[in-house]
Amino acid sequence: MSLRWMRRRVVARCAIAALLIGLILLAGLAVLSTQTAARAAAGVAERELVSQHWSNAYGKIGVEYETLTDYLRGDEEVSRGTLASVIGSAAGDLRWLYVHGGSDARRARALHNAYDGYSYTLRNLVDSERDGAQEMADAEQAAKSAAALRKQAADSVQRNDDEINALLAQSRRDSDRLLRAVEIMSGVDLVLVLLCALVLLMYQTSTERQASESRYRASHDGLTGIANRELLTERVKEAIATADRDGTGVGFFLLDLNRFKEVNDTLGHHYGDLLLQEVARRLTSAVRADSLVARLGGDEFAVLLPGVHEAADLLAIGDRVLHALHGVADLDGIAVDVSASVGAALYPRPSGNAAELLQHADVAMYAAKRGHLGISLYDRDADEHSFERLTVVGELRRAIAVGELELHYQPKVRMADGRFSGVESLVRWRHPVRGLLFPDQFIPAAEQSGLMPALTDALLALALDQYQRWRADGRTIPVAVNVGAACLLDAGLPGRIGLLLARYDVPAAHLTVEITESAMISDPARATAVLAELRELGVLLSIDDFGTGYSSMSYLQSMPLTELKIDRQFTTKLTSPGSGRAIIGAIVELAHALELAVVVEGVEDADTYAIARELGCEYAQGYHMSRPLPAGEILAWAADQSSTSMAWAGHTSAA
Ligand code: C2E
Ligand code: CA
Ligand code: CA
Repeated sequence: MSLRWMRRRVVARCAIAALLIGLILLAGLAVLSTQTAARAAAGVAERELVSQHWSNAYGKIGVEYETLTDYLRGDEEVSRGTLASVIGSAAGDLRWLYVHGGSDARRARALHNAYDGYSYTLRNLVDSERDGAQEMADAEQAAKSAAALRKQAADSVQRNDDEINALLAQSRRDSDRLLRAVEIMSGVDLVLVLLCALVLLMYQTSTERQASESRYRASHDGLTGIANRELLTERVKEAIATADRDGTGVGFFLLDLNRFKEVNDTLGHHYGDLLLQEVARRLTSAVRADSLVARLGGDEFAVLLPGVHEAADLLAIGDRVLHALHGVADLDGIAVDVSASVGAALYPRPSGNAAELLQHADVAMYAAKRGHLGISLYDRDADEHSFERLTVVGELRRAIAVGELELHYQPKVRMADGRFSGVESLVRWRHPVRGLLFPDQFIPAAEQSGLMPALTDALLALALDQYQRWRADGRTIPVAVNVGAACLLDAGLPGRIGLLLARYDVPAAHLTVEITESAMISDPARATAVLAELRELGVLLSIDDFGTGYSSMSYLQSMPLTELKIDRQFTTKLTSPGSGRAIIGAIVELAHALELAVVVEGVEDADTYAIARELGCEYAQGYHMSRPLPAGEILAWAADQSSTSMAWAGHTSAA
C-alpha cells in the first residue's frame, strides 16, 4: 500500500467526519430554532391570555361603572337589581390573574383587593336608603375608584401588549439569528459535501487504479511485462471454449532457452534479465496480436495460439517463432547467441484439455531439447518413450548396483609421433533387454535424477580397475574419466578418488578427469575448490568440449587445468573452407598461453589430423585412429598400431 494511498484514505475519513459533524450541527440548529419558535409562541400565548383577562376586567369595571352612573341618574331601565347583578363582575378575571398571571400576579392581587373595596362600597350604595347628598358623595367616591381601577387595568393591558410585542421582536431576532446560523451551516455543509464527494471520487479513482494495477501485476510478469502463468492458464481455458464453439483448435508452444543458465551465471543476472526481456520482445513481435506470449518463470516461455487446428500450421508458426528468436542479441554491448527449444501441442487432438496441452508441450519441449531439434510437436508414441525414460532411472539405479554399466575406451595419440598415449573411458550400458545403450540414452536421465555421483564413482572404480589389469598385462595406459558437472560440487569427490587411486595403486598422473565448462558455472567457487584438491592429489584435469559453452577466460585462468579438448564441432570444420582453422589455431594459442596441452577430438580423417597437427595440437582422438573399443580390444589395437605404420597423417613407423 503506497503512502499516497494511505494519505488519501486518511483525508477521506477526515472529510466524512467533518461532514458528519457539520450535518449534526445543522440538525441541532434546526431543533434549536423550532424550540425557540415554540417557546416564543407559548410565551406570547400566555401573555395574550393574561392580557385578555386584564381587558375583560377593564371592560367589566367599565360596564359596572356605567350601570352605576345610569342608576344614580335615575334611569328607569336600570333597577337596583340590575346594578346588583353587575357589581363584582370583574372579580373572576382578577382572581384568575392573581392565580395564573405570573409576573402580573402581585399587581392583580393588589387590584383585586382594591376592587373588593370598591365592590363593597357599591353594594352599600345599592343596599342603603340614604339621602341623596350622601349617596352622591359615595357615588363620586366610587366613580373615582372605578376610574383608578380602570386605569390600572388599562395599564396592565398596555404593559402586556408591550411585553407581547417585545416577545415577538425578541423571537424574530432569535429566529433571524438562527436562520443566519442555519444558512452559514448549510453553506459549510455544502462545501463539506462537495469536498467529501471530491475526496471520495479521488479515493475511488486511486482505489480503482490500485486495483487495476494489482490486477495487472497479478497477471503479468514483472521483468518482461508479458503475461504470466495465471493469465496464460485463464486464456488457455477461454481459447479452448472458443475452439469448442467454433469447431477450431488451439495451438500451444512451450519454449525453453538453450543455455540460459550459462548466460546468467557467467555474465550475471543483469545480463540474464536483459536476455529474457529481449526474448519476450522477439516472441511478441513474431506472433499475431491474438496470440498470447507468456513467461512461466525462469527461462521458460509459452505462446498460446487460438484458432490453430492444423499441425502443419502450428509447425510453420513454430518455425517463424524460432527464426525470430534465434540470432545474436546485443545485451548492453555483449553479444549473446539466443536459441531455444520449442515443444508444440495441439488441442483438441492429441491434447484433449488444457492440462494435457501444457503437459504435452512440456514433453515435446524436452524431446526438442534432447534431440537438438529446435521444435518438436507432441506425439503420443514419442510420449510413451518419455514414460519409458522415467523407468530408466529406476533401472539405472539397479544397473549401477549389479554392474550392467561398462566402459569402452577410445585411444588418444600423441601427434608429435603418432603414438598411443592413453584412453578416454566412455560409458555403455549393457541393458538385458534393450542391448547396448549409449550415454545419450541414459546420462540425461541420470543427471536429472541425481544419479551422477553414484554412476561416476562406479565408473571411476571400473576405469582404475582396468588400468590395473592392463598393467598386469604389461601395458601402462593412462586413462581419462568423464566426471559429470554435479560431481564437481561434491566436496567428498577428491577424497574418494584418492582412496580409489590407492586401492588400485594407480599413479595420480595417470588419471585424467574430464570436466565440462557447465560444471564450473553453477557454483564456480565450490567447483574450483574441488578441482584444486584433485590437482593437489596429482590428478590431471581436462576441460572437455571446449568452445561449446559460454567459455569464460577467468574460469580458464583460475582453474588448475592441465589439458583442453577441442570439441568435435570445430574439428569437423578444419578441412572445409572457412574460419575453422583460424578458430582452432586461436584455441591452441590460448591453451598454450595457459600452459595447457591440447587434445583435438573427433578426428575422422587423415587431412583433419594433418591440419590439427600443423596447428600445434598435442593429442588427437577420433574415429580416424579408433572408435571407442571394449577394454579387451585395447591391447590388440595398441599392439597393432605400434607394429604397423602409424601413418595417421604421414607418420612413418617409429617402432
Ligand atoms: P565426450 O566426452 O565428448 O566423448 C566423446 C564422444 O565422441 C564419444 O561419444 C565418442 O564415441 C565420440 N567420438 C569420438 N571420436 C569421434 C569421431 O571421430 N567422430 C564422431 N562422430 N564421434 C566421435 P559417446 O561415447 O557416445 O559419449 C557421448 C558423451 O557422453 C561424451 O562426450 C560424454 O559427454 C558423455 N559420456 C560418455 N561416457 C561418460 C561417462 O563415463 N561419464 C560421464 N559423465 N559422461 C560420459
Ligand atoms: Ca570426454
Ligand atoms: Ca568431448
